[in-house]
Amino acid sequence: MIRFEHVTKRYADGTTAVDDLSFDVAEGELVTLVGPSGCGKTTTMKMVNRLIEPTSGRIFLEDQDISTIDPVKLRRRIGYVIQQVGLFPHRTVLDNTATVPHLLGWHRKKARARAAELLDLVGLDPSVHGNRYPDQLSGGQRQRVGVARALAADPPVLLMDEPFGAVDPVVREHLQNEFLRLQSQVRKTVLFVTHDIEEAVRLGDRIAVYGEGRIEQFDPPAAVLGAPATPYVADFVGADRGLKRLSVTVIEASDLEQPPVVHLDDPLPKATARLTEEDARWAVVLDDSDNLHGWISLDSVTNGSSAKNTLKGTVRERARRMEAWLPLGSTLKQAFSTMLQHDAGWIAVVDGERFLGVLTPARLHEALRRSIDADANAIAREDVELETVAGA
Ligand code: ADP
Ligand code: MG
Repeated sequence: MIRFEHVTKRYADGTTAVDDLSFDVAEGELVTLVGPSGCGKTTTMKMVNRLIEPTSGRIFLEDQDISTIDPVKLRRRIGYVIQQVGLFPHRTVLDNTATVPHLLGWHRKKARARAAELLDLVGLDPSVHGNRYPDQLSGGQRQRVGVARALAADPPVLLMDEPFGAVDPVVREHLQNEFLRLQSQVRKTVLFVTHDIEEAVRLGDRIAVYGEGRIEQFDPPAAVLGAPATPYVADFVGADRGLKRLSVTVIEASDLEQPPVVHLDDPLPKATARLTEEDARWAVVLDDSDNLHGWISLDSVTNGSSAKNTLKGTVRERARRMEAWLPLGSTLKQAFSTMLQHDAGWIAVVDGERFLGVLTPARLHEALRRSIDADANAIAREDVELETVAGA
């Protein structure tokens, strides 16, 4: 979709911002460009929509040499989102979002309908926020309008230059999640610039790690974290890459433990017998359809009653709701933060509503090791010393 062939950009003062860069971005792929300030990320980006012309080399969009495409027409095929958003202060959010459709000569009604649809897609209610002005929005909301505006004319390509750089970490994580959800729906080809490796790992299908004007490594996140190609990359990725791997490793069914299971309508004596039999302190509680309901502890059942067999009632009356659960396919990082958030020693993992098993801290650690090992085997780079989590 986007292809760089030996692209160099030298500014008038002699600065070589981009040095003989070649890479390919596939259709529907989200590539993050990450690296320290001044390494040439923005220059790379601006050459794609011809805000900057390369000194040498060629750039292709859908196999067309972009130097042969009229810049104005080219930019209609490329959405552009930047940190300072650049919304028009005297236009409403809805009109800001409809900017490009207006320029394309769409009818006002159609343009506004499209803008409303886009606002909705980025999580803003058009009937609430549509008639506000940019300064009546929070920083995070303004960034969303920026994304909506870039998507309004439905361009196949999106360029995003540190779009979430100016918002606080909590809002930022929120915007990242929303953007991932959005991308899974719209499947644009995206070049996303960031200086934050965490963000690059989270969002990128592949990551281009920039050194000075050059790409040091261009790989999927797990490879960049697990097997940095050069000492520079290893350094940039940082010593806590075991931790960062948490966010690229997903929970698999084989990671899960199988605690005893009881059902809501089981009589309490049966439930306690089950727990005793498995020598367990607690059991997972499922409903009639084997969907997750919650959990029950032996203590809560036997509490106040010494003779177990005189227990009356069913599990339903003593079961507690389970708050700490995640769908299969969530990342280990989500699992870890869910544990912390609910102060839970384990979390339930479900597929739809169906209970699959639980993830304990020990299993989480094993999964992390599995992920690091798998990667070490897949990418045999002898010069890279892999750290285990214990060593990190
Ligand atoms: P990044 O986005 O990674 O921070 P840039 O692409 O903005 O990096 O800049 C790369 C290098 O080019 C830096 O050394 C920067 O100072 C230099 N540079 C950027 N724009 C210009 C310009 N218009 N004239 C001269 N040098 C520039
Ligand atoms: Mg920049």
